[in-house]
Amino acid sequence: MSDTIQAIRGMSDVLPAEAPLWEFFEDTVRQWLRDYGYRNIRMPIVEKTELFVRSIGEVTDIVEKEMYTFVDHLNGESLTLRPEGTASCVRAVLQHNLLYSGPQRLFYSGPMFRHERPQKGRYRQFHQIGVEALGLPGPDVDAEHMVMCARLWKRLQLDCIRLEINTLGSTESRVRYRARLVKYLEARLDELDDDARRRLHTNPMRVLDSKNPAMRDVIEQAPRLYDDLDEDSLRHFESLQRILRSVDIEFEIKPRLVRGLDYYNLSVFEWTTDRLGAQAAVCAGGRYDGLIAQLGGKPAPACGFAMGVERLLALLVEAGGAKVSDEPPDVYVVHAGEGTEEAAWRAAEAMREAGVSVVLHCGDGSFKAQMRKADASTARFALIIGQSEAEAGKVGLKPLREMGAQEALDLAAAIERVRCKPK
Ligand code: ATP
Ligand code: MG
Repeated sequence: MSDTIQAIRGMSDVLPAEAPLWEFFEDTVRQWLRDYGYRNIRMPIVEKTELFVRSIGEVTDIVEKEMYTFVDHLNGESLTLRPEGTASCVRAVLQHNLLYSGPQRLFYSGPMFRHERPQKGRYRQFHQIGVEALGLPGPDVDAEHMVMCARLWKRLQLDCIRLEINTLGSTESRVRYRARLVKYLEARLDELDDDARRRLHTNPMRVLDSKNPAMRDVIEQAPRLYDDLDEDSLRHFESLQRILRSVDIEFEIKPRLVRGLDYYNLSVFEWTTDRLGAQAAVCAGGRYDGLIAQLGGKPAPACGFAMGVERLLALLVEAGGAKVSDEPPDVYVVHAGEGTEEAAWRAAEAMREAGVSVVLHCGDGSFKAQMRKADASTARFALIIGQSEAEAGKVGLKPLREMGAQEALDLAAAIERVRCKPK
């Protein structure tokens, strides 16, 4: 074992025993997105590094230290494994001029890559479902995103996820706030950690996003952006809250919620749980009206969110509501004896043609050994083809999960029997 190659730290395999839970989650999510009119978009996993630097912002955890960046030796170009999906999604929308035909409700799913310290709920390859609405100024669509999340948690029977919201206001209100914040932080310079000192003049709001416990007091006592809000931002935020209340979505206003990425404005939100330890955020997002123009497009409003699939699956397991298991095949085909292999193949393919799921025994094995395999497969029936069945042009059908004797039937009758049985 010692010289077998292992997967990269923080990048996991999803094994067959875990895959049914992923599939259950993905199926639920796909249906949920359809119910809200969102359409799928699929972007490449690798993009030009510049895309992320320009959108996420240079002074952020992601761009400063979490990106998997490499040089394409063929042309010297700097490329990056995507750390998140919004930048790629906006790039694709602009590149293909999708906004020309009106606002877009889009979603994507897949792996994201961040060079973080791996721990429970924090991986280097992890998966997100991302949802973006482009071309709509809100606050209705902002509310839609939060309301739809609440519905997904309900469908997944997760009642341990709480909504936190905040507003980052307009660019102008943030400029005013920034000045006040820098003054405050400068006055408490001694208490700032290295990251915070570095960010103090480049990106002071990111200081509020720090996870360093030593910084908690400084952050708690920092001035609030709320007091610098202009009227439009305030109205946007209040309308959002009104809609949430009208559909009974509970939320808490968190003045320190600023989100780690540069491109947010107005509403920001996070869904958190107290069941996953330090990795509490399962879903986060907000409005990013400046991003489209920042990436060279005609200015247009937009908002979106992304959820962490691994954290939600952990929560599903933790909550105990996820009793998802492999779906067994309908039939396991057993064949032994001269001239039975061809008949077995024909029977298996005919059954699949009729929509029956079949595992065909491969390799040798005594009849008894094959029946043991059939049983272990948890199939509902064994389809048995021995020499006598092959010669008579019949098949043997034996129920494996309920009482019942083996019957010799025509293939068509056997198919009918398997299909008729209630699942
Ligand atoms: P965190 O504060 O936990 O680092 P984040 O603010 O960096 O999260 P986002 O960029 O908003 O996360 O990504 C949206 C969601 O993706 C998060 O709420 C979380 O559920 C998930 N996520 C982010 N980073 C990771 C990771 N390294 N491993 C697993 N899930 C992650
Ligand atoms: Mg992070």
